Amino acid sequence: MEKQSIEILVESRPRFIAAEPPKEDLWDTVLTQLDDVAQRLNLDPGIHAILRQPERELTVAVPVVMDDGRIEVFTGYRVQHSSARGPCKGGIRYHPDVNLNEVKALAALMTWKCAVMGIPYGGAKGGVRFDPMQMSEDEVCRLTRRYTAMIMPIIGSKRDIPAPDVNTNAQTMAWMADTISMIQGRTNLETVTGKPIPLGGSLGRKEATGRGVAIVTAELLERKHQKLSETTVAVQGYGNVGSAAATILDQMGCKIVAVSDISGGLYNPRGLDIASINQHVAAHPRRLLEGYEAPGVEKISNYELLESEVDVLIPAALEHQIRADNAPYIRAKVIVEAANGPTTRAADEILNDRGVIVVPDILANAGGVVVSYFEWVQDLQCFFWDEAEVNHNLKRIMVQEFKEVWDFSQEQQVPLRLGAYMLAVDRVANAWRTRGVFP
Ligand code: NAD
Repeated sequence: MEKQSIEILVESRPRFIAAEPPKEDLWDTVLTQLDDVAQRLNLDPGIHAILRQPERELTVAVPVVMDDGRIEVFTGYRVQHSSARGPCKGGIRYHPDVNLNEVKALAALMTWKCAVMGIPYGGAKGGVRFDPMQMSEDEVCRLTRRYTAMIMPIIGSKRDIPAPDVNTNAQTMAWMADTISMIQGRTNLETVTGKPIPLGGSLGRKEATGRGVAIVTAELLERKHQKLSETTVAVQGYGNVGSAAATILDQMGCKIVAVSDISGGLYNPRGLDIASINQHVAAHPRRLLEGYEAPGVEKISNYELLESEVDVLIPAALEHQIRADNAPYIRAKVIVEAANGPTTRAADEILNDRGVIVVPDILANAGGVVVSYFEWVQDLQCFFWDEAEVNHNLKRIMVQEFKEVWDFSQEQQVPLRLGAYMLAVDRVANAWRTRGVFP
């Protein structure tokens, strides 16, 4: 029945959903948000001007010897938006759409995210523009090592600490840590986080972003007096973050009715068997949902997933998935932004007008950087925590900062996104005021 109503809705709505929708520039979105917050906070114009520009932008050419002997040159970036509150921190993304403006925007989001979570970091981001699906593991390894060498002048455990992001993982971080160690002539495990456990990684890091998403979802539902056992959830993107969020929310008692990845979506109004989906993905050569079949499970498109009849929608893929063209048709009452920048500004306004609660990315997906912070602390002390301690401290920080954003937003009568940004920008501005402008 529910599936049928999705088809009716999709068919009756204007269909300008294109495979490649027109994209807002994420950097423009970030600047507009900052300008709005600056006005509301009555921010000093000088500090506002400082925060409108990244501190440092590095573009590098990355030559790679391909398996057939040819040399290809890829473009990579590392952007440090702000180090006012501590060393810069942010992931490395491998994707054919990576570009300087996107990396700048993601770096700024990291500044706000670390500030809103109260962890002592500034924001950075990096990426290389290529499609890892089209390259062998050896080629990706060589690209990672060369890219690391090229950005080494600006990274370091007290300067800028990279971590995984889209299409990068613990293996990528191991190659980065090894490259830095070889060049420095000493083992250096503290300059990147998200590493494998035997190489100074932290227990709980792999699932941390998804766990944080699940924790804030539960906190929000509690304030809405909605039981987890009566909550249906759809997750777009079944990678590191989306699969962990789905698995933990499933364990908490929610009914996960839809999941998707680049190969398409799965839908079962009675709830998907997440454990068997995880087994399928683990066995798939490209870790995809593709080919999964089970009784009662239907195939849906990514657009149908976004518009499905659920209580909670978790976009956990890429940015700008929820836009002005589909926001009016989204039926979830709550959106928890596991991905960075999944909602355009225009869509955000539509969702606000419709009373949909959006837990913003800088709060919802901060679990990863919080446990990256724990990993860094453990590496610097050469003293490692057990998983229970990691998860306990993650939950403590997520619950505390969610409460802070929630209470502040209620007090100011603003949406959670605006409340989170106001708190974050104020904290970064305070750091600037206290430190002063050098020299
Ligand atoms: P990932 O590469 O592990 O997973 C991305 C998933 O999205 C994959 O399943 C992919 O198939 C899917 N996908 C890509 N395009 C899609 C589309 N159009 N529709 C549906 N699915 C699509 O990446 P990840 O680490 O899980 O990151 C996902 C998002 O979370 C990104 O926005 C990232 O910036 C953000 N994030 C990640 C972390 C982290 O710790 N990994 C932390 C904070 C935020």
